[in-house]
Amino acid sequence: MKFAIVSKGDDRSNKIKATIKQYLTDFDLTYEEKHPDLVISVGGDGTFLEAFHRYRHCLENTAFIGVHTGHLGFYADWTPDEVEKLIIEIAKTPYQIVEYPLLEVIIRSKSGGTEDRFLALNEATIKTADGSVVFDVEIKGEHFETFRGDGVCVSTPSGSTAYNKALGGGIIHPSLEAIQLTEMASINNRVFRTIGSPLILPKHHTCLLKPLVDRSFLIAIDHFTKSYTNVKSIQCRVAKERVRFARFRPFPFWNRVRDSFVTEED
Ligand code: NAP
Repeated sequence: MKFAIVSKGDDRSNKIKATIKQYLTDFDLTYEEKHPDLVISVGGDGTFLEAFHRYRHCLENTAFIGVHTGHLGFYADWTPDEVEKLIIEIAKTPYQIVEYPLLEVIIRSKSGGTEDRFLALNEATIKTADGSVVFDVEIKGEHFETFRGDGVCVSTPSGSTAYNKALGGGIIHPSLEAIQLTEMASINNRVFRTIGSPLILPKHHTCLLKPLVDRSFLIAIDHFTKSYTNVKSIQCRVAKERVRFARFRPFPFWNRVRDSFVTEED
C-alpha cells in the first residue's frame, strides 16, 4: 500500500510525521506523494482540509485519516498517544471505508461564460468586502427569495459542525446526502425579507445564487478565499464525488459531536 502524510508543519506534527513514515516504511509500505492509497493528516481539522484539497484529484482511490496534535477534531480523531497503535492497524489490518458527501460549487462569470468548479469538504461562504451581498436565491429552478445581507454559507453534513454551527445552522449526520444553506446577518424589514432559517436541501435540489448588484465577491471554499467580479451565478449542490475515510475502529459521529461540544474538559 502507498501512503502519504500531510503535516501541519509545527515541530510536534513534523516529529509525528517522521515517526509514522519511518515505521510504515519498516513495515514495507511505500511512501508515495502523488497517488497514495492512504493520506494521513497530522495536525487539526484545518490540516485535514489542506490534505483533502491536495489530494482532490484522486478522491476515488484515496482514503484519509487524521491524527490531531491539538484538541479533538472532527476529521482528525486519533491522538498522538495512539500513533503506534494506528501504525500497526494500518500495516496489518484491512481498513473499512466510510464515505461522506461533498459540496460542489460552480461559479459562472457574466463575460465569456467561463466557470470555476470546486469541491468543499466543509463549506463555501459567499461574502463581499463591499457593503451587502444582494442575490436571488433559486432552488430547483424556482425563485425562492431575494437575499440581502452579509452573505451565506453552504455547508456539507460533516462541515455542519464548523462555520455553519457558528451561524446557528443545524448539525447534520453525514450519512444524509444534503447541503445546508445558512444566512449571515440577512436584512429583514418591510422591504427585504428572507426565510431566516437554515435550509437543508437534498441531493437532487440545486441552489443557484444570482447576484443582483455588481459586487466583488469573496468566495471561500473551506480554508481558501478567492475574489470574483462579474459573477453571473454561484451554483451549489451535493457533489457526485465523495470523500473516503479509513476507519480502523468505530467513532460514531454523535460521540464526536458530544466530545467536542458538550463534554467538559477535565
Ligand atoms: P481557522 O480559522 O484557523 O480554524 C477554524 C476552526 O474550525 C478550527 O478550530 C478548526 O479545527 C475548526 N474546524 C474545521 N473544520 C471543522 C469541522 N468540520 N467541524 C468542527 N470544527 C472544524 O481556519 P482553518 O483551520 O483554515 O479552517 C477553515 C475552516 O474554518 C472553514 O472551513 C470554516 O468551517 C471554519 N471557520 C469557522 C468560523 C466560525 O466558526 N465563525 C469562521 C471562519 C472559518 P482545528 O483547530 O482542529 O483545525
